[in-house]
Amino acid sequence: MTPDGCTEHPTRPVALVGAGPGSPDLITVRGLRLLRAADVVAYDALIHPELLAEVRPDAERVYAGKRGYCVGSTLQETINDVLVDRARQGLAVVRLKGGDPCVFGRGGEEAEYLAERGVPFEIVPGVTTAVGACAAANIPLTHRDAGQAVALVTGHFDPDSADCTLDWAGLARMSNVVIYMGLRHLPRIAAKLVAAGMPPDTPAAVVERATLPDMRVVDAELATLADRAADAGVTAPAVIVVGECVRFRHRLTELAAAAATI
Ligand code: SAH
Repeated sequence: MTPDGCTEHPTRPVALVGAGPGSPDLITVRGLRLLRAADVVAYDALIHPELLAEVRPDAERVYAGKRGYCVGSTLQETINDVLVDRARQGLAVVRLKGGDPCVFGRGGEEAEYLAERGVPFEIVPGVTTAVGACAAANIPLTHRDAGQAVALVTGHFDPDSADCTLDWAGLARMSNVVIYMGLRHLPRIAAKLVAAGMPPDTPAAVVERATLPDMRVVDAELATLADRAADAGVTAPAVIVVGECVRFRHRLTELAAAAATI
C-alpha cells in the first residue's frame, strides 16, 4: 500500500480490442500495440494464430473459445472474472475479439461488467465482418447508386421464435442488409425477407471465411441463395449480404481483372 492507502498497482484499463474480420493484418495499429504489450490476453475462437503469435511468450493466454452469439453465462462470467482479477493486479489485460468488439460481440456487456466492478476499460474498434467481407468480395457496402442505408443484422435466432425480434417488413425495404450468424437459418431468413416484400431476384451473396486465403463467395438471387450455399457446402464463419450493393461485385471484379491485364 502507498501512504494514501492506494494499492501499489493501480488498476489499468482493460482493452477490449477488435481483431478484425479474419486476416491477421487487418487489426488496427493501436490494437496490435496493445496486444504486443499485454500481460494477459483473453481471446476468442476465430482469432488467427498469427495474431496470437504477437502475444509475448511469457504472457498469460486465456482461451475464451465459443462459437456463435449465445454462450453459457458460466463461461462468460469466468472470462469476465479473470479480466477483473488480472486488471486489479495491475496487469495489462487485452480482451481480443473477432471483428469489432461491440458488433454482435458482447463488448458492451463486458465493458459494463468491468465498469460495474470499478475496472476501467478502453474499447479499440476493429474492422467488422460486414465491412471486411464486402471489401474482400469487391462489394461496395454502400454505393450512391445502391440505396442510402445498410442494416447489420444477427441471424442467430430462429426466425420463427419469439427470441427473434427482427422487423422483417422494415428489413425488406432496406437497400442493403448484412446478416451475421445467419447461415443455419438462411433458408428461412431468405423466405421471411421475400414474404415481407423483398424482391426474390435481389442480388445476394454468402461470404465464407472472409479475408482469409481460402475465402469463398457464393452469389445468387435472394430466392436461390440458400440452395446455392448448401450446394457449395458453405460452412461457418460466413456472412450473408443481400441488396443492390452486391450487383456491383461483378462489375468491380471484371474491371479489376481487366485493369490487371493492362
Ligand atoms: N464481432 C464480430 C462478429 C461476431 S459474431 C464482428 O464485428 O465481425 C460471429 C459472426 O461473424 C459469424 O457467425 C459470421 O457471421 C461472422 N464472421 C466472423 N468472422 C467471419 C469471417 N472471417 N468470414 C465470414 N463471416 C465471419
